[in-house]
Amino acid sequence: MKYAIIIPDGAADEPLAELGGKTPLEAADTPNMDRVATEGRQGLARTVPEGFESGSDVATMCLLGYDPAIFHTGRAPLEAAAQNIPLTRSDWVFRCNLITAVDGIMKDHSAGGITDAEAQRLIGDLSRSLKLEGFQFYTGVSYRNLLVYRGGEEFNVTTKPPHEFPEEPLLRYLPRGVGQEILRKIMDDSREIFADHEINAVRKQTGLNPATQVWLWGQGHAPNMPTFHERFGVKRGAMITGVDLLRGLAVLLGWENLTLQGMTSFHDTNYAGQGQATAAALDKYDLVFSHVEAPDEASHQADWKTKVDAIEHIDRFVVGPVLEKLRTFPEWRLLVMPDHPTNISTRKHGYAPSPFAMAGTRVKSLRPAPYSERNAAASDLKIERGHELMEYFLRGGNL
Ligand SMILES: [Zn+2]
Repeated sequence: MKYAIIIPDGAADEPLAELGGKTPLEAADTPNMDRVATEGRQGLARTVPEGFESGSDVATMCLLGYDPAIFHTGRAPLEAAAQNIPLTRSDWVFRCNLITAVDGIMKDHSAGGITDAEAQRLIGDLSRSLKLEGFQFYTGVSYRNLLVYRGGEEFNVTTKPPHEFPEEPLLRYLPRGVGQEILRKIMDDSREIFADHEINAVRKQTGLNPATQVWLWGQGHAPNMPTFHERFGVKRGAMITGVDLLRGLAVLLGWENLTLQGMTSFHDTNYAGQGQATAAALDKYDLVFSHVEAPDEASHQADWKTKVDAIEHIDRFVVGPVLEKLRTFPEWRLLVMPDHPTNISTRKHGYAPSPFAMAGTRVKSLRPAPYSERNAAASDLKIERGHELMEYFLRGGNL
């Protein structure tokens, strides 16, 4: 059996006045997704469990068949996995943003999209000046760095993502709880070390936001996840994504991360290349997971035109070729679904259950209708515990 899973990130939405009361999925011309839904089945799955924030890490973990309530330990550990940072069960990982604060107010969670080279110099100098036992910094892409703690201290702290409190005082959101002192000290010390740093002097001269300090958040231990093979018996898996968090998930699942030219998070991404790479990977792998970020980014910009266009591109250049390729195998199944809705009206991730469509071997059509939020909701297939969808998809069994 060959399996393909295609994720148009954030594609689900609500009806929009601009689209004559249709959702972007309904307004988009999607003959291939409609074929999946009419030949197979569609339904709803709740991929963001109660009490969780709607994020791609949580929602994707859930739709992959892993209950976030058990396996989601934080965002930083997933990013550490993506970077292949070795971790023991007792190690802690923190996200270590470079941020811009002015007079104690959060101005920019990304320090003006600081370059990798600048971030490396700042973090390097910070690490040398602090000389903190057990702590090790890892630079990532731009402002997204990690701090790993390998030592005997325990942490039980509440932290806040810096992108969630723009224009608000930092003081209000400092780490709180067991271990808060050391985290606050690192953040305070970084402010002094960065204040007169030449990187910041140059950035200010050229009108760019300086990195005034680091901000620690998203902490957790490495998740103790069984591999996808151990959990579901499907051997060789591959992930195609432009997003670090999902690459980290793939490492934890024991999958290979495939790369491809021109893949971005936006509508300028290489749709055709991704479709070809996904189809080609089916020759080698038993399951290929192909994730396209563009509809989500368009939704965050409230750009409904680009969102509709992105969905049409995914349909034509990814779902179409993958469906065609799957039909060359004796047994196959295809699942298409957004990880979570991203609503144009709020420019934020939504919490509504996600519409899915699946087709292939032993997936029977009950009530053929084009793929949409409304048609999925009208189906009798509603999976309240979203992590149960994977078992259903792989086995084609009953719920
Ligand atoms: Zn997402």
